[in-house]
Amino acid sequence: MTHGGVLQDTHNRIIRDLRISITDRCNFRCVYCLPETEEAANFYRPNSTSPNNSRQANNSPIYHWKPRSQILTFEEITRVARVAASLGVNKIRITGGEPLLRQGVENLVSEIAAVGPIRDLSMTTNGTGFPALAKRLKEAGLGRMTISLDSLDRDNFKKITGRDGLAEVLESIRIAKSVGLSPVKINAVIIRELNDHEIVRLANFAHEQDVIMRFIEFMPLGTRQAWDREHVVPGAEIIERIAAKLPLTRLPAGNPSETSTRWSLGQGAGEIGVIAPVTQPFCGNCNRIRLTADGKIRTCLFSLGEHDLKPALRSGASDIELADQLQRIILKKEPGHRIGAPDFVQPERTMSRIGG
Ligand code: SAM
Ligand code: SF4
Repeated sequence: MTHGGVLQDTHNRIIRDLRISITDRCNFRCVYCLPETEEAANFYRPNSTSPNNSRQANNSPIYHWKPRSQILTFEEITRVARVAASLGVNKIRITGGEPLLRQGVENLVSEIAAVGPIRDLSMTTNGTGFPALAKRLKEAGLGRMTISLDSLDRDNFKKITGRDGLAEVLESIRIAKSVGLSPVKINAVIIRELNDHEIVRLANFAHEQDVIMRFIEFMPLGTRQAWDREHVVPGAEIIERIAAKLPLTRLPAGNPSETSTRWSLGQGAGEIGVIAPVTQPFCGNCNRIRLTADGKIRTCLFSLGEHDLKPALRSGASDIELADQLQRIILKKEPGHRIGAPDFVQPERTMSRIGG
């Protein structure tokens, strides 16, 4: 198809980056995202009586996975990617939920990789199930990987993710490097009193393994609304704590839409980055939108509304009509998130159902 124009919002930001969630399901239960139990959700406030911490009568947590019929097919996802690419999107990240849980994910990767203008195709995963898929994903055209790893301590990893999966995630990092999914980035969400004592250890890991460690501030996006500002470790503090132990050199910013400040760790190997959406918002340069697994476009992580593409996708709309719809949606992109504002309202969707 041909369609003039780009995806430009009313604040003159041009959208180049599309994050596609391909499933809302996950096999981990990270305390800051999809906690399994009341205790996990309230890891830092054991006596909480928050009304948001709802439980079923049988005391199991409430998760409502979307029925398969509501989840976009690979064909539908690829079509949105193609239309977005025709409007200037050149970077796509596949995420979830846990994207590797989606059967045949390598086929979707190869379909998206074949969309011409996409020059950067990556995936964010918790790393489970990856060793068996690594080669196929690489061959399908995946360019690079981000693997989440919040702790290098087996017990703490289990406390954070609800699963005893540290060994497999470490193996996934090794394999991602060996099959050439480069650079390998690691996402570590830092939460005070949960894993902030591991900051320097994680930075050292980046150096030893020659990977890019990205420390992320804790954001208000979990199922139980458990976020609390006191547990956000500001990006500046993360850097101070590493700089006290390791030689850090600030690296120049790659491009204005980059979300992280970057630092080298000396001797060439490894890099760290800090993503500080809470204390140093980067909304003014935001060039991304998200497509949820059930076909909704979200113009901001913290949007309170969303825009459903499914009716158009499933009722025979043309590519031109879809492109028009995308362009109209982008005009509604918010100037920025309002974390910290007195009237801030946490979105209903958790990170696992948005796609990080
Ligand atoms: N399941 C995959 C994973 O964990 O990598 C992909 C989806 S996950 C929602 C994407 C990223 O969002 C992960 O790196 C995760 O740590 C991050 N994330 C989830 N909830 C968060 C929160 N409340 N604050 C900051 N980052 C969060
Ligand atoms: Fe953890 Fe990612 Fe699953 Fe959320 S979606 S629970 S961050 S593994």
